[in-house]
Amino acid sequence: MPARSIRKANGKIAHLFRVGRSRTGLGVFATGPIRKNSYIVEYTGPLLTNAECEEIPDNRYLFEVNARWTIDGSPRKNVARYINHSCRPNADPMIRDRRIRIKAIKNIAAGDEITYDYGKDHFNAYIKPKGCRCDKCREKRRKERAEVRAANARKRKRAGRARLASAP
Ligand SMILES: [Zn+2]
Repeated sequence: MPARSIRKANGKIAHLFRVGRSRTGLGVFATGPIRKNSYIVEYTGPLLTNAECEEIPDNRYLFEVNARWTIDGSPRKNVARYINHSCRPNADPMIRDRRIRIKAIKNIAAGDEITYDYGKDHFNAYIKPKGCRCDKCREKRRKERAEVRAANARKRKRAGRARLASAP
Protein backbone atom coordinates (compact mmCIF):
# COMPACT_ATOMS: atom_id res chain seq x y z
CA MET A 1 0.00 0.00 0.00
CA PRO A 2 1.19 3.53 -0.60
CA ALA A 3 2.74 5.34 2.29
CA ARG A 4 4.36 8.70 2.68
CA SER A 5 8.08 8.38 2.43
CA ILE A 6 11.01 10.61 3.05
CA ARG A 7 14.40 10.48 1.40
CA LYS A 8 17.09 10.23 4.01
CA ALA A 9 20.49 11.92 3.82
CA ASN A 10 22.05 8.67 2.58
CA GLY A 11 19.59 8.59 -0.31
CA LYS A 12 17.55 5.72 1.09
CA ILE A 13 13.78 5.99 1.16
CA ALA A 14 12.25 5.80 4.63
CA HIS A 15 8.56 5.33 5.14
CA LEU A 16 6.94 7.32 7.90
CA PHE A 17 4.15 4.84 8.49
CA ARG A 18 2.62 1.64 7.25
CA VAL A 19 -0.88 0.21 6.99
CA GLY A 20 -1.21 -2.92 9.10
CA ARG A 21 -3.50 -5.10 11.19
CA SER A 22 -5.07 -3.39 14.15
CA ARG A 23 -7.66 -4.32 16.74
CA THR A 24 -10.44 -3.07 14.50
CA GLY A 25 -9.23 -4.31 11.12
CA LEU A 26 -6.62 -2.16 9.49
CA GLY A 27 -4.78 0.74 11.04
CA VAL A 28 -1.86 3.05 10.36
CA PHE A 29 1.35 2.61 12.36
CA ALA A 30 4.40 4.80 12.68
CA THR A 31 7.53 3.11 11.33
CA GLY A 32 9.79 5.65 12.98
CA PRO A 33 9.44 8.44 15.51
CA ILE A 34 7.11 11.25 14.42
CA ARG A 35 7.57 14.56 16.16
CA LYS A 36 4.71 16.47 17.76
CA ASN A 37 3.23 19.11 15.38
CA SER A 38 4.72 17.50 12.30
CA TYR A 39 2.67 16.72 9.21
CA ILE A 40 1.89 13.05 8.67
CA VAL A 41 -0.42 12.60 5.72
CA GLU A 42 -3.20 14.28 3.75
CA TYR A 43 -6.77 12.94 3.72
CA THR A 44 -7.59 12.97 0.05
CA GLY A 45 -10.46 12.21 -2.29
CA PRO A 46 -12.97 13.81 -4.62
CA LEU A 47 -14.41 17.12 -3.47
CA LEU A 48 -18.20 17.04 -3.28
CA THR A 49 -20.67 19.71 -2.27
CA ASN A 50 -22.44 19.04 0.98
CA ALA A 51 -25.68 18.97 -1.01
CA GLU A 52 -24.27 16.14 -3.19
CA CYS A 53 -23.34 14.23 -0.04
CA GLU A 54 -26.93 14.23 1.12
CA GLU A 55 -27.56 11.86 -1.80
CA ILE A 56 -24.90 9.36 -0.72
CA PRO A 57 -26.21 6.83 1.74
CA ASP A 58 -23.97 5.69 4.55
CA ASN A 59 -20.48 6.68 3.46
CA ARG A 60 -18.38 6.81 6.59
CA TYR A 61 -15.42 8.35 4.77
CA LEU A 62 -17.11 11.67 4.07
CA PHE A 63 -15.17 14.45 5.74
CA GLU A 64 -16.77 17.88 5.75
CA VAL A 65 -14.23 20.65 5.24
CA ASN A 66 -16.56 23.64 5.46
CA ALA A 67 -20.18 24.72 5.14
CA ARG A 68 -20.13 23.96 1.41
CA TRP A 69 -17.59 21.22 0.70
CA THR A 70 -16.86 17.64 1.75
CA ILE A 71 -14.04 15.30 0.81
CA ASP A 72 -15.06 11.76 -0.06
CA GLY A 73 -12.12 9.83 1.37
CA SER A 74 -13.37 6.39 0.38
CA PRO A 75 -10.87 5.67 -2.45
CA ARG A 76 -8.34 3.12 -1.24
CA LYS A 77 -5.39 5.22 -2.35
CA ASN A 78 -6.37 7.63 0.42
CA VAL A 79 -4.13 5.98 3.03
CA ALA A 80 -5.44 8.36 5.71
CA ARG A 81 -8.79 6.56 5.59
CA TYR A 82 -7.10 3.67 7.43
CA ILE A 83 -6.30 5.83 10.43
CA ASN A 84 -8.55 4.68 13.27
CA HIS A 85 -10.50 6.71 15.76
CA SER A 86 -9.32 7.18 19.31
CA CYS A 87 -10.82 9.11 22.21
CA ARG A 88 -7.22 9.77 23.26
CA PRO A 89 -5.63 10.48 19.88
CA ASN A 90 -2.05 11.30 18.96
CA ALA A 91 -2.92 13.11 15.73
CA ASP A 92 -5.45 15.65 14.56
CA PRO A 93 -6.82 16.61 11.14
CA MET A 94 -6.19 20.27 10.33
CA ILE A 95 -8.60 21.71 7.78
CA ARG A 96 -7.46 24.62 5.60
CA ASP A 97 -8.35 25.66 2.08
CA ARG A 98 -10.58 22.62 1.59
CA ARG A 99 -7.71 20.29 2.38
CA ILE A 100 -7.27 18.01 5.35
CA ARG A 101 -3.77 17.48 6.67
CA ILE A 102 -3.23 15.14 9.55
CA LYS A 103 -0.69 16.35 12.07
CA ALA A 104 0.87 14.75 15.11
CA ILE A 105 -0.33 16.32 18.36
CA LYS A 106 2.04 14.23 20.46
CA ASN A 107 5.43 12.70 19.89
CA ILE A 108 4.68 9.35 18.30
CA ALA A 109 7.06 6.44 18.76
CA ALA A 110 7.94 3.83 16.14
CA GLY A 111 5.30 1.10 16.17
CA ASP A 112 2.57 3.26 17.71
CA GLU A 113 -0.76 3.30 16.00
CA ILE A 114 -1.64 6.72 14.59
CA THR A 115 -5.14 7.85 15.59
CA TYR A 116 -7.33 10.90 15.58
CA ASP A 117 -10.67 11.80 17.07
CA TYR A 118 -13.39 11.34 14.43
CA GLY A 119 -15.69 13.81 16.16
CA LYS A 120 -19.04 13.48 17.85
CA ASP A 121 -21.26 12.94 14.80
CA HIS A 122 -19.21 10.10 13.36
CA PHE A 123 -18.68 8.59 16.82
CA ASN A 124 -22.40 8.51 17.58
CA ALA A 125 -23.32 7.17 14.14
CA TYR A 126 -20.69 4.47 13.62
CA ILE A 127 -18.60 3.79 16.73
CA LYS A 128 -20.91 4.09 19.72
CA PRO A 129 -23.38 1.42 18.54
CA LYS A 130 -20.60 -1.19 18.43
CA GLY A 131 -18.63 0.14 21.38
CA CYS A 132 -15.41 2.11 21.00
CA ARG A 133 -12.30 -0.06 21.02
CA CYS A 134 -9.72 2.65 21.53
CA ASP A 135 -7.19 2.34 24.37
CA LYS A 136 -8.94 4.91 26.52
CA CYS A 137 -12.36 3.23 26.30
CA ARG A 138 -10.89 -0.25 26.83
CA GLU A 139 -9.10 1.01 29.92
CA LYS A 140 -12.32 2.57 31.19
CA ARG A 141 -14.27 -0.68 30.69
CA ARG A 142 -11.49 -2.67 32.36
CA LYS A 143 -11.70 -0.38 35.41
CA GLU A 144 -15.48 -0.66 35.49
CA ARG A 145 -15.28 -4.47 35.38
CA ALA A 146 -12.67 -4.47 38.18
CA GLU A 147 -14.97 -2.27 40.29
CA VAL A 148 -17.89 -4.63 39.76
CA ARG A 149 -15.68 -7.60 40.72
CA ALA A 150 -14.49 -5.79 43.87
CA ALA A 151 -18.06 -4.88 44.83
CA ASN A 152 -19.16 -8.51 44.34
CA ALA A 153 -16.24 -9.74 46.44
CA ARG A 154 -17.23 -7.34 49.24
CA LYS A 155 -20.83 -8.58 49.01
CA ARG A 156 -19.68 -12.21 49.27
CA LYS A 157 -17.52 -11.36 52.27
CA ARG A 158 -20.45 -9.67 54.01
CA ALA A 159 -22.68 -12.64 53.23
CA GLY A 160 -20.03 -14.96 54.68
CA ARG A 161 -19.80 -12.93 57.88
CA ALA A 162 -23.60 -12.90 58.16
CA ARG A 163 -23.65 -16.71 57.86
CA LEU A 164 -20.96 -17.03 60.55
CA ALA A 165 -22.85 -14.65 62.87
CA SER A 166 -26.08 -16.62 62.51
CA ALA A 167 -24.38 -20.01 63.01
CA PRO A 168 -25.38 -21.71 66.28
ZN1 LIG B 1 -12.81 5.48 22.65
